[in-house]
Amino acid sequence: MFPFMAQGHIIPFLALAFQLIKTNKYTITFVNTHKNINKLRSSLPPNSSFNLLEIPFNSSDHNLPPDTENTDSVPYNMVPNLIEATLSFKPHFSKLVSGLVSEENGQRKPLCIITGMFFGWCAEIAQEFGVFHAIFIGGGGFGFACYYSLWMNLPHRNNTDSDGFFLLPDFPEASRLHVTQLTDYLRVADHGNDAFSVVLKKVLSPWKNVDGILINTVEELDNIGLMYFRREIGRQVWPIGPVLLSTGSQARAGKELGISQDVCKNWLDSKPCSSVLYVSFGSQNTIAPSQMMELALALEASGKDFIWVVRPPVGFDINSEFKADEYLPEGFEERIKISRQGLVVHNWAPQVDILSDKSVSAFLSHCGWNSVLEALSHGVPIIGWPMAAEQFYNVKLLEEKIGVCVEVARGKSCQVKHKEIVKIIELVMDETEKGKEMKRKACEIKETIENAIKDEVNNKGSSTKAMDEFFNAALTMRESTIG
Ligand code: UDP
Repeated sequence: MFPFMAQGHIIPFLALAFQLIKTNKYTITFVNTHKNINKLRSSLPPNSSFNLLEIPFNSSDHNLPPDTENTDSVPYNMVPNLIEATLSFKPHFSKLVSGLVSEENGQRKPLCIITGMFFGWCAEIAQEFGVFHAIFIGGGGFGFACYYSLWMNLPHRNNTDSDGFFLLPDFPEASRLHVTQLTDYLRVADHGNDAFSVVLKKVLSPWKNVDGILINTVEELDNIGLMYFRREIGRQVWPIGPVLLSTGSQARAGKELGISQDVCKNWLDSKPCSSVLYVSFGSQNTIAPSQMMELALALEASGKDFIWVVRPPVGFDINSEFKADEYLPEGFEERIKISRQGLVVHNWAPQVDILSDKSVSAFLSHCGWNSVLEALSHGVPIIGWPMAAEQFYNVKLLEEKIGVCVEVARGKSCQVKHKEIVKIIELVMDETEKGKEMKRKACEIKETIENAIKDEVNNKGSSTKAMDEFFNAALTMRESTIG
């Protein structure tokens, strides 16, 4: 396994690795740069059956700041440079695969190589050594199909109507998108600066050469996006999700909880069934200070019980000490603590534990795909506030096609008023027709997901079957090359 160097990419790979190791059928070799491997080594459980292999990389050789090997440490505007720099891995990866193939005497050469979405070029090397190769997309089918199509069909500015809407020429099923749904990078590219689109086209076009694409999603939930990839890429597509880290494994991936699991559980236990709103913007996003103020006012005014994972807003150092008086309304934390209306968790909460608790009624989320899968796996409807990347299109799928979401705001710079937020919270959490319908659909999806991962002899779900098909294809290839 060889993911791109970003936490959001490494985490689904780890989840997949843990899932495969549990079957006792596979050994995993995890490849990455020195710093990422070191971080992984220190966070994996002792005696874990991962082989960790380092691939050489010197960020300074690529005009990146010294020792930057992960999007966590690369300045935001230099992420495209980091992606481009990964093309330098080619000779090293070739040597590494050559070593694995010869070392094992041809009998146990790697069954398959699974690489990150920016490493489609590995297909060429895998073919040279006769090893099956797939890329693994940790996000959803629809969201990534929109994202892929947006990059491949630039510019969109000439096809935009006077209200700012446009269609994707190769993905009409997505229906119309709005210019405010373009991420920062896409907006810059759409205005004629094509530096990043050149890089992305370079790394995405080899997808057509891979043996197939694994996606962390469920066929029944996401078939519009899956159909797009089957049609446009013309390769096998295996939806194998949800592949998720448990709270325990997340801790092993290096995240420290801002609240003890017991305190959180006791607070949730003290609340009525289906009464709590959980609010979180994922592992890396924060909102603007003015948005944070409005959200705090809205949560308090709504009168609903809530858990809010708060980290310093845009413009503050994300790793700095938490200074509530600088970005929350005066006395906010104290008031909600005394009234027991809410729990403010600094930085990191046990999300999966919270979403699986019966007291949780809705999730105000940035709609990162892991958060979406975690919510839907527990039948929790979503209030969407997308921030970046394909999250804008995840919301679209959830709201327009599945009906389990209402979008409340878009991005870090939109103006949002607390009264509007309260209205949406009430629409979703109160016994309104819309709220009841969303809850019903979310419960239906929960069942769909449970069915997809069934693994009984005569009753295998779609995700289990897709995983079987993937390994069968890999085995067939190995048998044919061993002869
Ligand atoms: N997460 C968590 N606690 C937090 C915030 C996030 O456990 O306080 C986990 C969440 O359960 C999910 C992941 O971090 O598994 C976030 O991934 P997602 O794809 O939703 O968003 P990203 O962080 O990649 O933007």
